[in-house]
Amino acid sequence: MRIDSASDALGIYISVPFCRAKCSFCNFASGVSSPATIDRYVGMLCEEIDAAGVTSERLGADLPRFVDSIYFGGGTPSLLAPSQLRTIFAALGRNFEVAGDAEITLESAPGQIADDLLDEAMGLGVNRVSLGVQSFVDRESAAVGRLHTERECVREITRLRAAGLPEVGADLIAGLPYQTAESWNHSLAVASGVGLTHLSVYMLEIDEDSRLGREVLAGGQRFHAHGVPQEELAATLYEQACAMLSQHRFTQYEISNFAAVEHQSRHNKKYWQRAPYIGFGLDAHSMLRRGEGAVRFANPDELKDYVPASRGGQVVLVAEREAFEETIFLGLRMNAGIPTNDLRERFATELVVPCEEAVRELVAEELMLAEDDRWRLTLRGRLVSNEVFGHLLEKVLV
Ligand code: SF4
Repeated sequence: MRIDSASDALGIYISVPFCRAKCSFCNFASGVSSPATIDRYVGMLCEEIDAAGVTSERLGADLPRFVDSIYFGGGTPSLLAPSQLRTIFAALGRNFEVAGDAEITLESAPGQIADDLLDEAMGLGVNRVSLGVQSFVDRESAAVGRLHTERECVREITRLRAAGLPEVGADLIAGLPYQTAESWNHSLAVASGVGLTHLSVYMLEIDEDSRLGREVLAGGQRFHAHGVPQEELAATLYEQACAMLSQHRFTQYEISNFAAVEHQSRHNKKYWQRAPYIGFGLDAHSMLRRGEGAVRFANPDELKDYVPASRGGQVVLVAEREAFEETIFLGLRMNAGIPTNDLRERFATELVVPCEEAVRELVAEELMLAEDDRWRLTLRGRLVSNEVFGHLLEKVLV
């Protein structure tokens, strides 16, 4: 067993969990904080980066020094001051060797990346900005607390491209309050014609971790919960996105991600291909090689708990069975699917054979394809991917 990887170079995730306002649907560890808190946090982040070698040694994990992707996520990392961004890059430079062609991504919200920060970021090597647009329809954006309009989004994308950023992507959400097939069509049409190179389409998550989710579950009216479309419509909107985006150079390569091959996200592919990555900051997750296996660890998701002693705190050893399960459910997220020969080579027969039986059943139900020595999800399978993964893993666990 080994960590599967197109490349053994490390991916680094930097969590910057600060936002200008909290969106009602957001279930991330993020919030509004004072400038002093942000400054203190940057200091702790750099301490954690400097201690990465010690942490990995303590966990018995291999920490590659060569890095080919860095991802600033959040939160809204573009709210950092240029000097704070410089400080974080300096810490990364002290501890890692960053490839000349590394993919370096900064998440932002439309209208929340100042000129001086953009200049600094590009000077430091940022070559990809991912914008949390969510909708190009003003009523839908306002309903969930987004601070931008369609006009501002279009202006921002045009500005970033004109500044010379080679990669500008955006996230959209299917299932927002008041969304209809027509309004969604409008968002997709704008997104595919405005000069973006990458699109992520997520389904609205209804759970206890967001204000909107809790209100929907309680059957209430706050946060425009009564405007959230039925689940069936959200599924139709997702299918609409898959059909429409493919006609506009946005080829689906993962359940939620669409781009031409040369614009795919190198960083996110590391997660699905189980390549080594390390995360720094609040709620950041890591997976590193350890001997023949791997180890996962995560930081706390509450700012008050993110203190030096807690970092790399929750540690999980990835045994062969877990590695097999991860290979299945992460690999199937990608349209390229899983090469079955590779699976048979790497894992024990008692894991692979029951899974093959489950795949045959899912192929009969038209939820999966098994051809050319690969397993893949069909479009229907992608819509109910959690059920498909559940069925596969059930067989393996027996
Ligand atoms: S900007 Fe992003 S991270 Fe911040 S609250 Fe909104 S969805 Fe969450």
